[in-house]
Amino acid sequence: MEAYLGIDVGSVTTKVVLIDRHGTALWSSYKKTMGQPIKALQSAFSALRRGMGDIEIRGVGTTGSGRKLADYIVGADEVKNEITAHAVSAIHHIPNVRTIVEIGGQDSKLILIRNGVVVDFSMNTVCAAGTGSFLEHQAARLGIAIEELGNYALAASSPARIAGRCTVFAESDMIHKQQMGHNLEDIVAGLCDALVRNYLNNLSRGKEISDPVIFQGGVAANPGIKASFERELGKEFIVPHYYPIMGAIGAALLSRNTTQTRFRGWSLSEKQLSTSSFYCSDCPNACGVMQINDCDEVIARWGDTCGKWGRMSE
Ligand code: SF4
Repeated sequence: MEAYLGIDVGSVTTKVVLIDRHGTALWSSYKKTMGQPIKALQSAFSALRRGMGDIEIRGVGTTGSGRKLADYIVGADEVKNEITAHAVSAIHHIPNVRTIVEIGGQDSKLILIRNGVVVDFSMNTVCAAGTGSFLEHQAARLGIAIEELGNYALAASSPARIAGRCTVFAESDMIHKQQMGHNLEDIVAGLCDALVRNYLNNLSRGKEISDPVIFQGGVAANPGIKASFERELGKEFIVPHYYPIMGAIGAALLSRNTTQTRFRGWSLSEKQLSTSSFYCSDCPNACGVMQINDCDEVIARWGDTCGKWGRMSE
């Protein structure tokens, strides 16, 4: 069978998807990166081989903050930023989409699309209060499984007003509201409202959020956040079936124009790969150079501004 591989390596989760020529997902994997993106990729590849048998890979696309790392070790034909990958995927699933709200583990994005073209976007990579990691931390603190958080929010009768400006304020405000006697449901609903206010304050100023709106990324699993957005904006938020892997699907879709793939094959899952780094002291730039090692052999380097250390994986 011929297929296209899409890889989205984020700081919190690593997503791998296999699609056919028409963009239909054949197989997918969504795993925590746990600070070890190579291991996360190797584990996904092993599972893919076990689940799908022999597949002929015709193209590979990578995206996410670890897209270059994934490219160096897998051999990608398309290496695209998350905005492009998410937009391509959203347009593929809902051709007339005009707004993409994406919230992942460590960042969030707002992408505006008009007539199938990205016309504007904003990204928040600095404020943790508007991300999935913050929600996960608060769920753990409240003793609620992250998968249940949304249901608690939906059961609220009078959501507490939680400060969402930053994680420190939000957490201390939640503790204060608990001490005042607010029930758990109202506090969780307040937390969802705070995350939504944080998102809108940081990302949507001066931008027109118009229908249809797609809500994707891991946080789209939370019906409490979806309900908060819909209440706040008076708009329906569409959560696509493949909401957590939309970036990976976009990367795979982009690779469909490949004529001769650079894919290195399936041996990735069997190799003893590791990363290391050093600072080059040959000029005042003092570049931090990253390298991937296959046992004792260095197979790729990047981060050198002048190219002195070379991209060895070619
Ligand atoms: S890699 Fe090149 S630019 Fe960077 S410090 Fe070394 S010599 Fe300078």
